[in-house]
Amino acid sequence: MSAESAGPVIVVHGGAGKIVPDLVTLRQTGIREAVLAGWKLLSGGGSAVEAVEQAVRLLEDDPAFNAGRGACLNRDGDVELDASIMDGRDLTAGAIGAVRRIANPVTLARAVMEAGPHILLVGEGAERFAAEVGIKECAPDALITERQHARWTALREAKTEEGLGVGGTVGAVARDSAGHVAAATSTGGLPFKAPGRVGDSALIGCGTYADDGLGAVSCTGDGEAIIRLVLGKTALEFLKTGEEPMAAARRAVELVTARIGAGVGIILVDPRGRIGVAKNTPQMAFGWVRDEDSAPEVFG
Ligand code: ASP
Repeated sequence: MSAESAGPVIVVHGGAGKIVPDLVTLRQTGIREAVLAGWKLLSGGGSAVEAVEQAVRLLEDDPAFNAGRGACLNRDGDVELDASIMDGRDLTAGAIGAVRRIANPVTLARAVMEAGPHILLVGEGAERFAAEVGIKECAPDALITERQHARWTALREAKTEEGLGVGGTVGAVARDSAGHVAAATSTGGLPFKAPGRVGDSALIGCGTYADDGLGAVSCTGDGEAIIRLVLGKTALEFLKTGEEPMAAARRAVELVTARIGAGVGIILVDPRGRIGVAKNTPQMAFGWVRDEDSAPEVFG
């Protein structure tokens, strides 16, 4: 799994947690499609940024994941989305937090990155920026699925936060044929979260990081734990000590287990195109493609 690749590489995840049985196949199918779409761009000479954005967009559109359409609801029954993207070429990054009515938050994050100089826009300001750059708002209910509404109703009636950590956040990391890396992450956050809560998926260095000299990473799981350990950047720093990407990803997850005891998952790619994947949760759907003509490998 740590084999080097001279060509492009893409790895995609669909969230760490416990996947309810009827979503396992749907998520595997979604991951396969996303990884292939990203790969198609990369093998046609597209950039790592384009590939991770495209892979994440497809998963945002897929209601089987907790991002874009299908996102979980906050305590008020609203969707509030977080996303971020980073370009390892020049360390430019863009992120949005707690936005509503945006079907593809990763594309809004990319627009923030390209517009500069700010990196993170939240709430109403982010929504106004979307309108300025021509990203249209969707109807208020367009992102709410029956599944997530039913889950919200159950959580509200039980007046408990049980049900947290069931996964479905999406992320992608890639290295393109020019050797540049990029990462992107998108989520609805945690079910029944407090309105206004922003998690790691919107925070550069936590849920997302990319640097051509280090690699690219996307994290998923307990966002507060990921933030406290600045987990994305921490995992990439482990690579500097000469650790193999698989070992670096595992070490980062073990750090979370040891210090906080929370559930997380990580995907990463190093500058040589080697892949690292680790989780301490029961499941995490993920997949990758790294060689011309190779079929995507997808795991539950
Ligand atoms: N990390 C995300 C958050 O805390 C949730 C997840 O990955 O499942 O918002």
